[in-house]
Amino acid sequence: MDDTVRQHKYVLSEDQMPTVWYNIIPDLPSPPPPPLHPGRLDPVGPDDLAPLFPMELIMQEVSTDRYIEIPGGVLDVYRQWRPSPLFRAHRLEQALGTPARIYYKYEGVSPAGSHKPNTSVPQAYYNKKEGTRKLTTETGAGQWGTALAYACAIYGLECEVWQVGASYDAKPYRRMMIEAFGASVHRSPSDLTEVGRMLGADPRNFTGSLGIAISEAVEVAATNADTRYALGSVLNHVLLHQTIIGQEAMLQLAMAGDTPTHIVGCTGGGSNFAGLSFPFLKEKLEGRMSPRIIAAEPASCPSLTKGVYAYDFGDTAGMTPLMKMHTLGHDFIPDPIHAGGLRYHGMAPLISHIYELGLMEAEAVPQTECFAAAIQFARTEGIVPAPEPTHAIALAIREALKAKETGEETVILTALCGHGHFDLSAYDQYLRGEMVDEAVSDERFASALSTLPKVPA
Ligand SMILES: *Cc1c(COP(=O)(O)O)cnc(C)c1O
Repeated sequence: MDDTVRQHKYVLSEDQMPTVWYNIIPDLPSPPPPPLHPGRLDPVGPDDLAPLFPMELIMQEVSTDRYIEIPGGVLDVYRQWRPSPLFRAHRLEQALGTPARIYYKYEGVSPAGSHKPNTSVPQAYYNKKEGTRKLTTETGAGQWGTALAYACAIYGLECEVWQVGASYDAKPYRRMMIEAFGASVHRSPSDLTEVGRMLGADPRNFTGSLGIAISEAVEVAATNADTRYALGSVLNHVLLHQTIIGQEAMLQLAMAGDTPTHIVGCTGGGSNFAGLSFPFLKEKLEGRMSPRIIAAEPASCPSLTKGVYAYDFGDTAGMTPLMKMHTLGHDFIPDPIHAGGLRYHGMAPLISHIYELGLMEAEAVPQTECFAAAIQFARTEGIVPAPEPTHAIALAIREALKAKETGEETVILTALCGHGHFDLSAYDQYLRGEMVDEAVSDERFASALSTLPKVPA
């Protein structure tokens, strides 16, 4: 037995917690293309978004300020679980026999068990401040629904959630947790909205998708004056709120005396990955470090590696503004893989733009490789990861094993953005040998891309 005492956990004090969010837009060589109005095809203005979002968030969405102050009322709530710990994965490294050093920033310590409260809390805060009575939203696996329900409970807002059908059926405990926080949950497609009734009539839509659930939540917000909508990923202001993760990680890696050579994160809509990597990308752009920044996406929903960079709708029914992003097409219905949070047809416009600029890379990972990595992680590090970050862990392991071959100095930083306590049926399926990797045919990708909206260049 090895009794060496090793530094394993890097903890910041409360007064070291960042008090600003970092906006990367002013530091990029060019700004991302603007969202377009779906009817007029010209850039959307604040007035177009006002029925859906409070003005403070709209201003953050288009802000070119490098730093945006976190309100005291939000910092107060953040302190319940922030600063979050950074761990060095010594025992995983040892099991892999790798000279690479692997660090993971653990966001599963939040009340919802993921990074999502970093943005649900400020979103609910600004809505409350501007007089919103109720928030609507979609949720996949249920993490975002849980995070928003928690934030709404804190600030006294009503909350109504449309959950993707496949996840609603497979993960009842998330629904129960959302209800415990006082929100209501509907299986999407539902018969409560016009789009839900329309799309639900097609049996191919039975399992639902994030795109359909977004359409339902947006419809209800757009048609009720006291109701607004909250999105858990994709938009600039959401990515902005998550940058507290990377800012903390930077301080913690400095405590460890290390500089990352690889930053890997899973990408659904891109928010935890952006939150972890953007503060480091600033360092990279200014020449102080040069990590490879790599997005890990599911092989069955690979918007960066198999999608096109084009204007598309954020939802299935075509109600949202058109966003220039990597997309598989708003009609694409991903297979019901376990990482429900990664089953989104598009990627954040900001991430897509940065990817196009060549400032980051992406790799697709099949889910059985992810769960093999997750099992090895759980048995060495003692945390059962959510299915989404298993993609990042799998990629971290790929890189750590490469380092073993090449002997190259490798310091990997990843975000363990949530725990998997509500996803144990997926582990059960994997451990019984019943999990499969669905191959998506080129025809299926091509068919969904054929309905991209026509936008003049
Ligand atoms: C929602 C979620 C994701 C996917 O969303 P991103 O915006 O890409 O971060 C990933 N992991 C967890 C744990 C989630 O809850």
